[in-house]
Amino acid sequence: MPMWNPWHGCHKISPGCTHCYVYREDAAFGTTIPSDTVRKTASFSLPLRRDRYRAWKFPPGTEFALCFTSDFLIEEADGWRPELWEIIRQRPDCSFFFFTKRIERLSSCLPADWGDGYPNMAIGCTVENQCYADRRLPLFLSLPIRHRIIVAAPMLGQIDITPYLNPKLIEKVTVGGESGRYARPLDYEWVLDLRMQCIRHSIPFTFHQTGSYLIKDGHLYRIPRCHQHSQASKAGLDTSVRRHPQE
Ligand code: SF4
Repeated sequence: MPMWNPWHGCHKISPGCTHCYVYREDAAFGTTIPSDTVRKTASFSLPLRRDRYRAWKFPPGTEFALCFTSDFLIEEADGWRPELWEIIRQRPDCSFFFFTKRIERLSSCLPADWGDGYPNMAIGCTVENQCYADRRLPLFLSLPIRHRIIVAAPMLGQIDITPYLNPKLIEKVTVGGESGRYARPLDYEWVLDLRMQCIRHSIPFTFHQTGSYLIKDGHLYRIPRCHQHSQASKAGLDTSVRRHPQE
């Protein structure tokens, strides 16, 4: 899945942002522009790139992961977003996904022809703890979106999202821990609990990464960055198809 980062930089707005990887990676690369300065990138028109034969560089069916070094709905990008919607409209043969901690801004950022949502656009609402789940998810469920995903990452505590697990509205729940040297640990029991909530409501579940520190069976494990996705996958918790509650 290619990353499409049309703008870069973000400012912190909630507890899940404390150890933001954008800031960490900017520091690692020695970037001199502050990470909270939002700027357009050279990849702004990425999906429209063509090869020497004038064919699309990204073929039909490509799934673009959008805005992974910023937030799609950040205020500073309001002036650039109409052009971005225009690019998305030119690639109805591709699909797009972004997740956001600013779901309250969605309504004011949508294009005029959005209707019930573009069929090729999935939106993830990030919830890192119970407080932000209760604050963001009721609004998330009420918005015109065709494909909704709940992103519990970085998961900072046990979260009960059962009031929001409507299988007609939520397509998937995905969970991950926090990465980086100062990461807060993820308790495996929280992951299992959230998975069980999803099974009871017949909603697919993914454990996408462990984060740097995982508590399991009373032990704290440090997981190197290169193994955080594979270790989560090896746990075998994913329920990619809707399952019956008794399974
Ligand atoms: S919203 Fe995302 S990209 Fe922005 S500061 Fe928070 S964690 Fe970083």
